Amino acid sequence: MDYFRLRGIGVSPGIAIGEALLTERVIFTERKESISSNQVLTELNRLKKAIERTRVQLTRLKNQTRKKVGEEYSFIFEAHLLILEGESLHQSFEEIIKKEKYKAEWAISRVHDKYQKIFESITDEYFKQRKSDITDVLTRIYKNLETTDQKKIEEERERILVGHELLPSEAALRLSRGNVLAVATDMGGKTSHTAILARSLNVPAVVGLRNISQRVKNGDYIVVDGTDGEVIVNPPMAIRKEFFSKRRKYDDYRKELRKTAKLKSATLDGVRFFLLANIELPEEVKPAISLGAEGVGLFRSEFIYLQSTTLPTEEEHYSIYSRIAKEAYPSPVYIRTVDLGGEKELPQLKIEKEPNPALGLRAIRFSLRDRDVFKVQLKAILRASSQKNVRILIPMITEIEEIAEVKILFREVKEELRKKRFQFDEDLPLGVMIEVPAAAAITDLLVKEVDYLSIGTNDLIQYYLAVDRSNEFVSYLYKPLHPSILRLIKFIIETAQREGKEIAVCGEMAADPLAAIVLLGFGLKNFSMNPIFIPRIKKALRSVEYKTVKKVVQKVMKLKTAQEIEECIIEEILVKHPNAFLRAQVI
Ligand code: PEP
Ligand code: MG
Repeated sequence: MDYFRLRGIGVSPGIAIGEALLTERVIFTERKESISSNQVLTELNRLKKAIERTRVQLTRLKNQTRKKVGEEYSFIFEAHLLILEGESLHQSFEEIIKKEKYKAEWAISRVHDKYQKIFESITDEYFKQRKSDITDVLTRIYKNLETTDQKKIEEERERILVGHELLPSEAALRLSRGNVLAVATDMGGKTSHTAILARSLNVPAVVGLRNISQRVKNGDYIVVDGTDGEVIVNPPMAIRKEFFSKRRKYDDYRKELRKTAKLKSATLDGVRFFLLANIELPEEVKPAISLGAEGVGLFRSEFIYLQSTTLPTEEEHYSIYSRIAKEAYPSPVYIRTVDLGGEKELPQLKIEKEPNPALGLRAIRFSLRDRDVFKVQLKAILRASSQKNVRILIPMITEIEEIAEVKILFREVKEELRKKRFQFDEDLPLGVMIEVPAAAAITDLLVKEVDYLSIGTNDLIQYYLAVDRSNEFVSYLYKPLHPSILRLIKFIIETAQREGKEIAVCGEMAADPLAAIVLLGFGLKNFSMNPIFIPRIKKALRSVEYKTVKKVVQKVMKLKTAQEIEECIIEEILVKHPNAFLRAQVI
């Protein structure tokens, strides 16, 4: 059997070793079969029945998933039911069958192409990944056009699923059975539903392998390394042994980390710190808390705009915010107002194409242009605040005037809610994200206008170093430990603290053990990150003494390069605290 290795994107860490099971892929027809006028009704009926069967299946899957894996995962099917109910979907089908007079298969195929193109044009990775949900629902309807299609009962043996693309509903169903060791697919990204689910269920997964589904056969012996994003097919014995040992080490490491969830977040010398979660879906709250999150430090509200093809209503916003607030209660929840515009383009928001989107009409700039859309969101956030654990975060602030304008809108919205007798937190705190260098430079002025600050290092670093955060050609320059970045962040943290205001870091930097230690040394107490990284940061910060870290950081600030800084932290911290988890042990 051929031995080869494939590189992809590791989206769920861990190692699995076992036999491959290829998933079948539905190909939408390319045959444009026309029908006569008197066949239109029959064809519409066929489609109607297929949609009805799909609805029944999705509802059953939703209930099954809820029972077997938990409420938080059944959301996939809820989202699919919403897609299925979508009016524009039905209109598109009908138009092709009724007006253009084609068979239902061709109608589904065309509608699928149309949606794929819309989603392809979105540059934001999270939204782009939602196109697989559309494919999933349309595949189901397509298969249901044939009544005879009865799915084979899956074999119970544990296998590694290999496919072109594992559709979210298929992932939920198969992963929930507990007999999937790992997932390896040609397509996919870090934020696809399948990846989110695999991470939550601890199933190692590598996606973006390009052609694994064509190169692997059923029964091939494969290793999936979700930590390093590699798949090894039919490895010789020596390599298998290497991975058996890597798997053991990883499993021990994970067990060790999980134990930290219930431990207090404090350094060896008793300095308390707080680890919060960055989330994109309400379903992520509970798993985040089980990993030790003490609240939601950043809810990226953009995802709500994907739930429908029209703009979300106040009720839709409200039901999501109040669910998050309830599930996290009494811990705080920081809801970031939408960061759309710029490259996060969505068809229902009429945003013109811009030559330089990262510097364009984005986030608060966009919200202040479309004030009615913004007010809908502000109202919903306020309404979800009656338990007093909701906070607001405004992204991409550049100047004080923007805060002043937000405050005016805030007052107007509160007045409207009072008139309608809605309950809300009258003192709902308002904070801003520091992501633009200009805002960082006037931290002393900005901080007086708000209740707290949160540093969005992902953007702040890209704008300060002039390095596009998603451009692989310049990624070698994207260095959170660059002396300029450390000086800037130190200034922001110290300035906020001098004013007695709360300050957090919510960019990826907070999830890197080395960088988190430096941030702690600057006096930072609030770290917000992707929940899967909470245990390792807790472990790192619990294994150091604040006193020592402060001294190391003073030394670090005299160094000239990111590399020298990194080496200095590793040497100095490990000498004093050999248990500190630094980069080498990162999952
Ligand atoms: C950031 O910029 O650091 C941040 C947290 O926001 P986002 O990654 O959503 O741009
Ligand atoms: Mg940002």
